[in-house]
Amino acid sequence: MKLSNTPVTAHTFGDIPFSLKRDDLLHHQFSGNKARKLSAWLELEQPEITTLMSQGGVQSNSLYSMAALAKLKGWQLKFYVERIPTWLKNHPMGNYRGALELGAQIIETNDYDKVLEEHFREPRQTQSHTLVIPEGGHSEEAMSGVRRLAQEIIDWASQNVAQPVAVALPSGTGTTALYLHKFLKPAAIEVLTCPCVGGKQYLIEQFMALRESDFPHILELENKHHFAKLYEEDFRTWQQLCTDTGVEFDLLYDPMMWRCLSLWYPQNTDKHLLYVHQGGLLGNESMLPRYQRKFSSI
Ligand SMILES: *Cc1c(COP(=O)(O)O)cnc(C)c1O
Repeated sequence: MKLSNTPVTAHTFGDIPFSLKRDDLLHHQFSGNKARKLSAWLELEQPEITTLMSQGGVQSNSLYSMAALAKLKGWQLKFYVERIPTWLKNHPMGNYRGALELGAQIIETNDYDKVLEEHFREPRQTQSHTLVIPEGGHSEEAMSGVRRLAQEIIDWASQNVAQPVAVALPSGTGTTALYLHKFLKPAAIEVLTCPCVGGKQYLIEQFMALRESDFPHILELENKHHFAKLYEEDFRTWQQLCTDTGVEFDLLYDPMMWRCLSLWYPQNTDKHLLYVHQGGLLGNESMLPRYQRKFSSI
C-alpha cells in the first residue's frame, strides 16, 4: 500500500494567494502529516508484530491515526492516555470516537514509562510482538515518509512556480516541519512554521531531540498562545479560511499558522506560498462544539 501524490489546489485567503498541498486527501482514515510520519511503519513487513503501543492525548489526531495504522496492519493498538474524562466516556466524539470504532484499546495510566518498562521486562519472545511508536510519531523513523512529501513538493514547484517558494505548516512536535526543511533546503525552498504546543524554545528542543541542527523558520504571534485554548481570533480565522477556500481546515493548529502568515505576508509578497494541509479534521468534531458554545454570536 502506497500513500502519496496528493493534489495541489489554488486559493486565496483574504489578499494572500496560495497553493494548498492536499494531504487531507491521502486516505479517508489515514491522512495528513500523521500518515506521512507513520508511513515507514505502514510499510514495515514484520508479521510477528501483533500489537502497537503508543501514548498521547485522548482527543489527539495522533490517537486516531495510530488506530487507523493498526487497523490497516491488523495490529491491536494499545494507546495510553493520562485520563479519559467521564463526559467523553459517556459521549465518545472526535478522534476518541473514531479510534474506538477502529478497534483501539485506550487505557488510562499516569505512568506510561512504567508501563513500557514492565512490558519490556517480559521475555524476548513476547517483546518482538509489540511495536512502540513515540508520542505523535516524534521519531527519526518519520523521516522517510516526510522525505517523500518533500520530493512531491520539489517536483510540483519545479513544474509550476517561477517565484521563490515558501512552504508553511504549523508544528506540534515539529517533526514534519523539521524534516520538510531538511529535504527542501537543498532545493532552495524555505519552510515556515509556528509553535502551537509550548513556545519557540519548546519547539527548538523538540527539533534538537531529533538530532538535527538546522531548523525551519519559526514565526510567532505577538501574544502568548496556549494549545487547545479557545481564541476568538482563531475561530474567525478558521471561518474565513473555510469560506475563502471551500476546504475544511483543522481548528487546533491551522488558525495560529494563518494568523502568523497574515503578519508574514506583507513583507514577502514576492514569494509563492504553499500551505501543507495536515489533515486532523476528525478533531473538529469535538473542537467545533466548544467554539460554538463559547462564541455563539460569531
Ligand atoms: C499532529 C498535527 C500537527 C503537528 O505535527 P508535528 O509533526 O507534530 O509538528 C499539525 N497539524 C495537524 C492537523 C496535526 O494533526
